[in-house]
Amino acid sequence: MSNQLRGRPMIILGEGAQRVRDRDAQSYNIRAARAVANAVRSTLGPKGMDKMLVDNMGDVTITNDGVTILKEMNIEHPTAEMVVEVAQTQEDEAGDGTTTAVALTGELLKNAEELLEQDIHATAIIRGYNLANEKIKEELEVVSDTIDVEDRNLLKKVAETSMTGKGTEIHKEMLSELVVEAVKKVSYEEDGEVFVDLDFLNIETQSGESTLESELFNGAVIDKEATHDNMPSEMKDANILLLMEAIEVKETEVDAKINITDATRLRHVLDQEEEEIRKQVQKIVDSGANVVFCQKAIDEVARHYLAKAGILAVRRMKKSDMHFLKHLLDTTIVSDIDDLSGDDLAKGTVSRDEDDKLFYVESENQDGFGVTLLLRGSTEHVVDELERSVGDAIDVVSQTVTDGQVLAGGGAIEIELASRLRSYAESVSGREQLAIEAFANSLELIPRVLAENAGLDPIDVLVDLRAAHEEGNQKAGLNVFTGDVVNTFDAGVIEPAHAKRQAVSSATEASNLILKIDDIIAAGDLSGSGGDMDMGGMPGMM
Ligand code: ADP
Ligand code: MG
Repeated sequence: MSNQLRGRPMIILGEGAQRVRDRDAQSYNIRAARAVANAVRSTLGPKGMDKMLVDNMGDVTITNDGVTILKEMNIEHPTAEMVVEVAQTQEDEAGDGTTTAVALTGELLKNAEELLEQDIHATAIIRGYNLANEKIKEELEVVSDTIDVEDRNLLKKVAETSMTGKGTEIHKEMLSELVVEAVKKVSYEEDGEVFVDLDFLNIETQSGESTLESELFNGAVIDKEATHDNMPSEMKDANILLLMEAIEVKETEVDAKINITDATRLRHVLDQEEEEIRKQVQKIVDSGANVVFCQKAIDEVARHYLAKAGILAVRRMKKSDMHFLKHLLDTTIVSDIDDLSGDDLAKGTVSRDEDDKLFYVESENQDGFGVTLLLRGSTEHVVDELERSVGDAIDVVSQTVTDGQVLAGGGAIEIELASRLRSYAESVSGREQLAIEAFANSLELIPRVLAENAGLDPIDVLVDLRAAHEEGNQKAGLNVFTGDVVNTFDAGVIEPAHAKRQAVSSATEASNLILKIDDIIAAGDLSGSGGDMDMGGMPGMM
C-alpha cells in the first residue's frame, strides 16, 4: 500500500447503501422484534382476543393462533421476520405455544436492552441467556410430572388446555374426546417406547353443520364425487385401485400437426383415440378393479366406459388423500396402467354420506390402518379456526403420549422457573448473573399478560403468585376467570413439558441472534422498513 492511501478510509459500500452500528443497530433490531411480539400478546391465554386479518385479495382470517397471525401479516421487515421464524419453529417442533415463544422473545430483548443501557456487553447477556436456557431445561425435568399415558382423562385436559380461548372453545370437551381417541388410534408401542404416527391421522373439514357433528372415522373421508352419474356411489368388498396416471389419450411424442381435409379422415383419428382410451379402461376392468381413485384427469370417454363397466371412478384426488389411502389400504399407487395387475388392488368398502358429498373408505386389510377426524362447523371461518385449534391439540396430546411429561399452566410453570432461576443466578458470578435475573423477569411476562388479557391487575397477580411459590406451591397459577391463585394442575390446566422447553429454547436463540448483531449494512434505505414499522400495511396492530 502506498503511503498516500494509508490512513484514509476506504469506501466499499455502494451509493444509497445505509449502515447502522453498535447501540443504534441493537436498538433498531430490538424495536422491530418487540413490535412483532406486541402484535400477538393480546391473544395469549383463555381470555385472549382474536384478530381479523384481511389479505390483499380481501380474504378474511379470524384467528387466535400466534403463528397464523404472523404469517398472514405478511411482515417484510428483516429483523421482524426473524421473530416470525420463532413462531414457525415453535409450530413445527411443538404445534402449540407460538404466542408464548414470540412474546418471550420480545421480553428477553426488552430486558436485554436495559442491560445494554447499563453498559453490559451483549456477549455477557448472550452467555447469561444461554446459561438460563440450559438451567431451565434441567429444572423442567425436575418440576414436570410424569403421567400414565393410558390416563385418558388427563390427556383430555391437555387437549382442552390447548383449545381454551380459541373460537371453538364451547365444544372443547367433545373435541378433546375425539382428539385423544384419534391420537390413541395412531399410537403404538415398541421396545417400551410409545410412538405416534400422524401420517395415519387425516383431518378433513366440512362447513355447513354444527361442530357437534364432528366425528372420528375408522378410515378415509374423501370430499369428492363420482365422475359419472351412472356410476355406483357405494361398494362393499370393493377392489380398489389407486392410480397416479391420467386416463386419457396420451400426448404423442412428436407434437405432430395433422392436416385433416376430409371428414372420414377425422372420424378415423377420433376412432383411434377412443380405441386407445377403451383399451386403457379394459385393462382396469381386467385387473378386477371396481373402484378407481385417480390423482389425475379422467377423460369423458373413459368415464363413459368406466360407468358402463359398473366401476366407481373418482378423479383429481388430492395427493395427500392418495397417500393416506395408500397407508390405510396398505397398498401401492399405480403409476402406469400398462403395468397394472390384480395384486395392485386393495380390499375395502366405499360408502357415501347422507348429504351425498363425501366418500367413506374403510380398509378390509388387517395391516392397513388409519383414521380421519372429520371436523364440521357452521361457516368456513369457524372450520378454519377449528382445524388450527384441533391441530394444536393433536400435537400436544401426541407429545404427552410420547414422553409423558406435563406441567401446570396458567403461569404456574413460569413463576416456578423464574424463582428457580433467581436462586441459580446467585451462584453465577459476573455480569451473567444480571442476565439470568433478566431472563427470570422475562418469564414472568406470561402470567402478567394472562392477567392483563383477563382484565386483572398484573402486579397484584404477580405478587400473589410469587408468594404462593415461595410457600412451596409449585403449581400455583392464575385462574383467569376469578383472578384467584389456584393449583392449576388440579384445575385441569395442563401443558406438555416439551412445548414449554421448545418455546424457551427458540426464544433464547432468536434473542441471542438479534443481540449479536452490531452492524447493519443495507443495500437500500433502511428507514422504509425501519423504526416505526408499518406491519404489512396494518398499522395499529402493535
Ligand atoms: P400459545 O400460542 O402460546 O399456546 P395460547 O393463547 O394458547 O398461546 O395461551 C396459552 C397460555 O394460556 C398458556 O400459558 C396456558 O397455560 C394458559 N391457559 C390455558 N388455559 C388456561 C386456563 N383455563 N386458565 C389459565 N390459563 C390457561
Ligand atoms: Mg395454545
